[in-house]
Amino acid sequence: MALMATGCQKKTELTSGIDLNNLDTTASPVDDFYQYACGGWMASHPLDAEHSRYGSFDFLAEENQKQLRTIIDSVSAQNNKKGSIADKIATLYNIGMDSVRLQEQGAEPLKPYLDEINALKTREDIWAEVLKMHHRANHVLFGVFGEADKDDAKQCIAWAYQSGLGLGDRDYYLTDEGNNKNIRAGYIDLMTKEFALAGYDQMSGIRADKLASMVMGLETRLAKSQNTRLENRDPFGTFNRYTVEEANKLAANIDWKGYFTEMNIMEGMKTFNIAQPKYFEEVSRVLADADIETLKAYFAWHEINSAASYLSDDFVNANFDFYGKLLSGREVNRPRWKRVTSTVDGAMGEALGHLYVEKYFPAEAKERMKVLVENLMTALGQRIDMATWMTDVTKKNAHEKLSTILVKIGYPDKWRDYSGLEIKDDSYYANIVRSNIFDMDYMLSKINKPVDRDEWQMTPQTVNAYYNPTTNEICFPAAILQPPFFNMKADEAANYGAIGVVIGHELTHGFDDQGRNYDKDGNLADWWTAQDAENFTNNAQVIVDAFNAVKVLEDGGNGQPLYANGQLTLGENIADNGGIHISYLAMQNAKAKGQLNKDNMDGFTPEQRFFLAYAAVWASNIRDEAKLQLTQMDVHALACNRVNVTLPHIGEFQEAWSVKQGDKMWLDPDKRAQLW
Ligand SMILES: [Zn+2]
Repeated sequence: MALMATGCQKKTELTSGIDLNNLDTTASPVDDFYQYACGGWMASHPLDAEHSRYGSFDFLAEENQKQLRTIIDSVSAQNNKKGSIADKIATLYNIGMDSVRLQEQGAEPLKPYLDEINALKTREDIWAEVLKMHHRANHVLFGVFGEADKDDAKQCIAWAYQSGLGLGDRDYYLTDEGNNKNIRAGYIDLMTKEFALAGYDQMSGIRADKLASMVMGLETRLAKSQNTRLENRDPFGTFNRYTVEEANKLAANIDWKGYFTEMNIMEGMKTFNIAQPKYFEEVSRVLADADIETLKAYFAWHEINSAASYLSDDFVNANFDFYGKLLSGREVNRPRWKRVTSTVDGAMGEALGHLYVEKYFPAEAKERMKVLVENLMTALGQRIDMATWMTDVTKKNAHEKLSTILVKIGYPDKWRDYSGLEIKDDSYYANIVRSNIFDMDYMLSKINKPVDRDEWQMTPQTVNAYYNPTTNEICFPAAILQPPFFNMKADEAANYGAIGVVIGHELTHGFDDQGRNYDKDGNLADWWTAQDAENFTNNAQVIVDAFNAVKVLEDGGNGQPLYANGQLTLGENIADNGGIHISYLAMQNAKAKGQLNKDNMDGFTPEQRFFLAYAAVWASNIRDEAKLQLTQMDVHALACNRVNVTLPHIGEFQEAWSVKQGDKMWLDPDKRAQLW
């Protein structure tokens, strides 16, 4: 009886989960659903100077930072045993917050590393420095990381990967798209300024502007041989197995054996992956023929650039003026406490995460989430059966893959041990270096060993979720299990529209244009019939075309209009499309079982609440600079397009909102993407 009474009472107490203040009812849902569903939110959350983009995700991330700060503050107020994790958290936070000492120390913490670089004389010295810098997680020229063997995903092997561009992406160096010309000029200014601040011009006897142009020349050369973002999305093209002997033939001036020995991963190594062979051929040539002073300038710059955020304010500000303002359109830097909180989070994420879930994550959320995930997996199974474009053989393989997906919710069962990390009261940057070395050793220690499937790739306090194809797992950290994604006090229709679609999105990644190339064990394998693969590609092209047609900016910074990149964002857009379909079906299943309120709530049907909740996740304001940067670099479409470009392909959306031919949100049924 108690159970009944509580149950009934609870049901009447549930809200719709739709905040009516977030709507803009002056807009038409059939013409601009994004504005209708999120216009109120956007008006009441104007961008502040600190952000170039601010949306539901950022709102939660900001709340999170406050919670993390509360945790750090209470840890700092305790009487901590020297060397305990609490002591490490408190010490790192306090040293980062000590602005007086940071100003006094100036470039001093950087000096030993610059001295070391300035003293290099021979090519042997240069190579030895590459190893040292890599061990400090400063990946000049290239990087080596531990990743799954794509033919045997249970095994972790070494991956050599392109790296070492201060602008991050080759296109900034090589094309005049968008604002790239100004960005290159700004980058040279930044280098010039910081070489002088660090005193490297004095040390090397070369003028700062000259050093900057030497670095720019070398990075441009490297950029020319690097893969594009699109090429790096190709799971086959980026997997190229080599033995050390074979690698020596490809790139003879890289001492592979010496490298792996120094990194302590030679033992047990049979083969490893070179993700971009063409690039490593060029790195080999660079090591042999690039001017030694230029290589030294390049190393010095990367040392300065990676230290700048942890030094005195002149470095921090110069760094922000370029990366924060010019590149992403933010007006002012985040306050110090937020920056330092992020640093502590980056250095000891799982330790903070452990404290975070103890304080902020309710156990009921995990239980309810488990049920939702099960319902979503059932619905994806039904959708696979319903697909008219797939043969039974491929469907069977898809079911097999679906049934073996590993689900992670909230937080890991075991936590990382930070006892080997030394945090001292010397300088902020010295601690960052020790932390980087600690993380590198940890990462390297996994190579040539079985993959640990229990390990998490995100901390619980991260507002995000992921699918990992090589472990065939989905993961939902604690921090995403709160409104507007997941509302324990709301009727399920809204939850299916928000967190349900997030779950469906991650599940669909297992079957998107990349994920479909992996089998249930995470191995790169073709489990498709030729006809099904062709149908998939043709159907996916509908989504590519839809996004390619979207004009993001009238002027992308170079006088030309900027269009969305349908190919770059394809995997994410397939995941959104599939996620909505799957979660909608799961909601209908729940509705049939009486698990949600079939009546109108706040004037909306369950189906309408579903789509309002979906859109609410993407409520955001954004500056043009950020639109440009994200369109060029991000594999996700812009938030507004994840609503207004994605929904016309969803027939259930048209039905729920009575969208008619002629409305802007309308799309003829035969033009809608048919995938999952
Ligand atoms: Zn995704």
